[in-house]
Amino acid sequence: MNSRDSVKTGMPKLTPPEKPAALNLCLQWRAIPGEEMDQKLDFLEANGFAAVEIPSGQWLFDEGDRLKDAMAGRKLFIATACGPSDFSYVEAEKREAEVAKFLPQLEVLGGLKSVGLIICPARKNPGLPFPELREDFVTNTGKRLAEHAAKHGTRIVLEPLQRAETKFLRQVADGATMARDIGPGCTVMGDFWHMSKEETSFMGAFVSAGKRLSHVHVASLTNRKVPGVDGPADNYVDGFQGLKLIGYRGAVSLEGGFPEGADRTELILNMAKLLREQWATA
Ligand code: MG
Repeated sequence: MNSRDSVKTGMPKLTPPEKPAALNLCLQWRAIPGEEMDQKLDFLEANGFAAVEIPSGQWLFDEGDRLKDAMAGRKLFIATACGPSDFSYVEAEKREAEVAKFLPQLEVLGGLKSVGLIICPARKNPGLPFPELREDFVTNTGKRLAEHAAKHGTRIVLEPLQRAETKFLRQVADGATMARDIGPGCTVMGDFWHMSKEETSFMGAFVSAGKRLSHVHVASLTNRKVPGVDGPADNYVDGFQGLKLIGYRGAVSLEGGFPEGADRTELILNMAKLLREQWATA
């Protein structure tokens, strides 16, 4: 429809993304069936997964070189590295230690061509008051990490949580605004589980993030387990519509548990089928 038609119908005219969105399914390292590194990567490739999410911290230094070799010639990409972080300490030297801890990890991630390092700026009740924490994160701690990430070819990825876990960053649009304020090297992600508690619309939240969205976590929406185990609650179609609107081509990565005694492989394959069907519907 042309713009005159859109005025007539009262509906907005949307510009399709330059490249269409793609569903790139991903698993976190510990959830992938298999003991050895190659077994895990083989499982992902054999079952149509496109990406792998790895631990942050010491694991990167212990396993990074081996992973780089094991990834050679594969179709997989390394999505994010995930682990704890906190930049809300009252004491400046503790915030500084947190920055110092992550700088060398970003260098390893850059070498692995990883999408980036997931960062939660604050947990629980932050030590610093909100305005001070935001300012310090956007102009100092987060800014320096983002600049270092960009220099090494990767990014930091801000993760909004839910209010029980942090009161500081709960919504994707807020994270996207911080990413905009920080500038190059900073992006945001959306976790369907947290979003189900904090957002009014999965689609709206993803559209707010736009090109700054670099990663997505997914879980079942009643019990935070593998998608599919919570029946009709596990509906991601509205969110996937948002991802399609913004031309999202990053990973959609399982971050959730497994029912006790369950066949993990069977549930993972069931999840992949469910998410592919819902992506096609979206
Ligand atoms: Mg998450």
